[in-house]
Amino acid sequence: MSRRVQWPEMGTVAAVQSPQREMSYRAKEVCTAVYTEADAVFSTWRTDSELARVNGYAGTNDVIHLSPSLDRLLRSAFALCRESGGAFNPLLGPVMEAWGFNGADPVTTEPSAATLQAALARAEWRDVTFPVPGGIRLPRAGLKLDLGGIAKGSCVDAAYAALEKAAFRNVLIDLGGNLRALEGSAFGRDGWKTAVRDPFGKVSFAGSFLLRGGEAAASSGNYERFVVIKGVRYAHIMDGRTGRPVRGMAATTVVAPTAEEADGLSTVLFVLGVKDGMALLANHPGCRALWIPDTPDEPTIILSDGWTDFHAHPRFRIKNR
Ligand code: ADP
Ligand code: MG
Repeated sequence: MSRRVQWPEMGTVAAVQSPQREMSYRAKEVCTAVYTEADAVFSTWRTDSELARVNGYAGTNDVIHLSPSLDRLLRSAFALCRESGGAFNPLLGPVMEAWGFNGADPVTTEPSAATLQAALARAEWRDVTFPVPGGIRLPRAGLKLDLGGIAKGSCVDAAYAALEKAAFRNVLIDLGGNLRALEGSAFGRDGWKTAVRDPFGKVSFAGSFLLRGGEAAASSGNYERFVVIKGVRYAHIMDGRTGRPVRGMAATTVVAPTAEEADGLSTVLFVLGVKDGMALLANHPGCRALWIPDTPDEPTIILSDGWTDFHAHPRFRIKNR
């Protein structure tokens, strides 16, 4: 019997699963130490995180010194930003706030064109430079880095490395739906059976697949965090190019060699949709993805290449690319 232990972490649910309860509790200890350290670096919410300190320099010409872990994650976030032409954009803090997310006051109407324009001006990613190793420049006032689309995945990779170093085996790490499997499975199968949630909430899962040792998976959806403005539901994933919440997509899931790549990709593929998303995915060897368009009356899953073991719920129609 596999033992799942879960606890609250970073505003979401963290969990570990292993063959034995005792092992799961020990794995939890390792993970919480890693997450506590990471949260002090990446948190968007804490005013005392390293990220908040860095954001405090926006509008100066200073080269801001970064810890190695923040330097690495910021570079990787901006690489995905450039690769996607700004669809993935780590500067969406002000845009998120304009739509009533990230602790801002709830909004009852869509932000005005002027408000959005002002927020987008503060999301101009071409302004941000990395002039020296371990240093970043945020020359425009009001720039506000937000690593919410990629940070949890990187925390899972850090937990994975710590567990591996401590000689753990057969552990599934889960941080708010960002998964990574440290070897085999608790059941002697060649992977961990992983469910894809039904974004329409009609059935318990839209599909399932096996996550193999070392692999990571992440999902993005419009079902967990959203705001309702005049009866319309707006998801917490924005198109970084327009500053508007993505419409038309219900969920994406990505399997990748690392949890950071899976996390970043699940967010950007949600924004790009199927056609442009497939093109971006082609530059990511070892990754596979699925999209669930926001068509509740015709539940459909669109699969990229690379899935060999995907089982859809009978309610969902499968479309291969
Ligand atoms: P979750 O946080 O629910 O696991 P995601 O990994 O998809 O889901 O990340 C969503 C978060 O990413 C948002 O809360 C926000 O902080 C940030 N975000 C939203 N839109 C974008 C975007 N276009 N590019 C980068 N980050 C984004
Ligand atoms: Mg993500």
